[in-house]
Amino acid sequence: MEEKGTISIHTENIFPIIKKFLYSDNEIFLRELVSNAVDAVQKIKRLAALGQYNGELGNPLVEVAVDADKKTITITDNGLGMTAEEIKKYINQVAFSGASEFVEKFKDAKDANEIIGKFGLGFYSAFMVSDLVEIQTLSYQDGAEPARWVCDGSTSFEISAGNRTTRGTEITLHINAESEEFLSKNKLEEILEKYGKFLPVPIKFGTRTEHVADGEDEEGKPKTVAVEVGNIINTTNPIWTKAPADLSDEEYLAFYKQLYPYAEDPLFWIHLNVDYPFNLTGVLYFPKVKNDFDMQRNKIKLFSRQVFITDEVKDIVPEFLMLLHGVIDSPDIPLNVSRSFLQADSNVKKINSYITKKVADKLQELFNKDRKGYEEKWGDIGLFVKYGLVSEEKFYDKAKDFALLTNTKNENYTLGEYHDKVKDFQTDKNGQVVYIYSTDPAKQDTFIQSANKKDYDVLLMNSAIDNHFISFLENKLEKTLLKRVDSSVADKLIEKDEAIESVLTEEQAKKVTDIFTKAITKPGMQVEVVGLNPEELPVTVTMDEFMRRMKEMAQMGGGMGLYGGMPDSYKVAINGNHKLIGKILLTDNEEEQGLLAKQAIDLALLAQGMLTGAELTAFVSRSVNLI
Ligand code: ADP
Ligand code: MG
Repeated sequence: MEEKGTISIHTENIFPIIKKFLYSDNEIFLRELVSNAVDAVQKIKRLAALGQYNGELGNPLVEVAVDADKKTITITDNGLGMTAEEIKKYINQVAFSGASEFVEKFKDAKDANEIIGKFGLGFYSAFMVSDLVEIQTLSYQDGAEPARWVCDGSTSFEISAGNRTTRGTEITLHINAESEEFLSKNKLEEILEKYGKFLPVPIKFGTRTEHVADGEDEEGKPKTVAVEVGNIINTTNPIWTKAPADLSDEEYLAFYKQLYPYAEDPLFWIHLNVDYPFNLTGVLYFPKVKNDFDMQRNKIKLFSRQVFITDEVKDIVPEFLMLLHGVIDSPDIPLNVSRSFLQADSNVKKINSYITKKVADKLQELFNKDRKGYEEKWGDIGLFVKYGLVSEEKFYDKAKDFALLTNTKNENYTLGEYHDKVKDFQTDKNGQVVYIYSTDPAKQDTFIQSANKKDYDVLLMNSAIDNHFISFLENKLEKTLLKRVDSSVADKLIEKDEAIESVLTEEQAKKVTDIFTKAITKPGMQVEVVGLNPEELPVTVTMDEFMRRMKEMAQMGGGMGLYGGMPDSYKVAINGNHKLIGKILLTDNEEEQGLLAKQAIDLALLAQGMLTGAELTAFVSRSVNLI
């Protein structure tokens, strides 16, 4: 048996293309060849199970070996093997039509995955790193003859009688000069670990030393002896392939540690398992979240039938769940195509909604089963949920019942509960419910206390996502406004009908305004005399809610350039009903009037954390003189 022929593709330059354009990703040749070997072993097992193969199965095994002297890498399996006819059919007829279209379309491609998968070129990825590839194979079929195939990377191949005496396939790569890095054991092991750590068939790579019990020594102590055993690099049945009912919490946690050795234990996890209308398994973990979003991304590993593909799961997992950790395994995700194709793929869309739903169901379940425990975890969960709410329209309907609002007293309420809690005291004259929030309870303490005195509740909005969450709530909740606690004096936070009149006459008010305007040294301060509760502070410095939000957006690059360029402007509210103001009016010494006004303003600035540097020093010495 000897035959020479030409691989049926329509152009001569397919291999140069593969080599040239796929260079960056060329380590995937190993993934492709090892997956083929694993497939071959799985197939013979299936044939045996179906009664179509009655011979000895042996221990399923794929072996990878490297010979640095001969410059070869060999991948051997005891799978179903191939006959010469099958080699011609499966290897020679490269599975794509129109090679010229291929060349045209992918001449600029950067990603080897894109081409390898789409055109069924798995086997041919071997030529990215080889000058010559040889197949020795013996089919499981009765009376099959061993076959050998050799190809040097041109379009001509050679088939002849082979030398294999046992069932299976051995593929030898004669590594080319540019790819000698792959002849390093460490390098190969690293690649095998990356792609093959969870393959379903044992993958052997060299040997390692193990110390096994070997009777007792003279003193009767147990003795061990060093033996060389096959170095199996993978776990063949990782937890996501098992049924949740068969798994303990310890096993989930151990798997998490295996994936992320340095991470803290996760909060909880979700086991995914669907087979219709798409096939997907996996385990997603909720990590303890640090406020540092980006550090946490790309932690979900994507597999296809236990072969690692990527940890770039964008588009498959909803954006807000990218913070999750764990694995997803689906043969139904088109792994090897471009991003834009992925976004349009209907399976990917379904998978995306499925994951969103599962996560929502899990959170709802935790909330219903153990609200206290849920609230304790809210600090971490909240970030996901809020992120989900602001970024994923569909998530709101599911999450509205378990999204919590936390106030400065550390009490948690659902959106509905909170509305009911505050609506009586915090509805303004236009029927809008005003939610008051603090971004920094320590700094805004004076304001929080004033608000609490009026029986207003103050929400805590101090996480990285809260800026967006505030706008989201305002959009989503009907007739609801959100105001930062220091955006106005407490009396004016919620505009009510029962306005308190200022006791001052118009003339007195004007005089007070003048005195205070003169006493102010900071730019951008607008003085206004208002009638407040006499118990309120004499002077309060605030920045308008709208103005502040616009400026914050401008700072974050939200396109509010106009506001970003404007100087800060503050409102200085003088409480006309406070006795200090009466005292200032009664003083006829202009200098003393100015001093009192200055002192009152500085106190207000101090409460806002705005009194710093020389101003602060001057204030302190002035205060000492006053006492
Ligand atoms: P794919 O794996 O997507 O089918 P490949 O190019 O990787 O594409 O492989 C082409 C075909 O060659 C496989 O479908 C299989 O029939 C055959 N083949 C490759 N490697 C082996 C192997 N180790 N044992 C048996 N058959 C193999
Ligand atoms: Mg393949």
